Amino acid sequence: MTENIVDHDPNCLFCKIVAGQIPSKLVYQDDEIYAFHDIHPWAPVHFLLIPKQHIASMAQLTDAQAALMGRMMVLAPKLALAQGCNPYPAGGFRLLCNTGAEGGQEVPHLHIHVMGGPRPWLRG
Ligand code: AMP
Ligand code: ZN
Repeated sequence: MTENIVDHDPNCLFCKIVAGQIPSKLVYQDDEIYAFHDIHPWAPVHFLLIPKQHIASMAQLTDAQAALMGRMMVLAPKLALAQGCNPYPAGGFRLLCNTGAEGGQEVPHLHIHVMGGPRPWLRG
């Protein structure tokens, strides 16, 4: 049974990555946030920014997660530049947060795709 918001869901792929049970290429981590390279990148820079806590998707968010989500949004531009995205405005980056089946979400642990780098990209 997969819960919507818990500290760790033993059946969740991204919880296993946070726990080090599945390898990942680390971009960043702190107490609350983990970032790692997407295994099938669409763009020269493509990493995923996730809460360490298991939150299934944006659909489960409440005010209790407002500060965490704010921290992720403020962190994204800094990590994008550190990972090789070119500066705004000629460069920039794309954030994508697929939510639910019709939103194209495949892994049910909230994640923000951060993509950037010179075009063309494979997708997106
Ligand atoms: P989404 O369709 O938004 O749920 O995206 C899930 C993303 O997770 C895809 O871009 C996958 O390439 C990526 N992904 C799946 N498994 C792994 C993994 N083990 N390590 C890194 N990225 C992964
Ligand atoms: Zn999870």
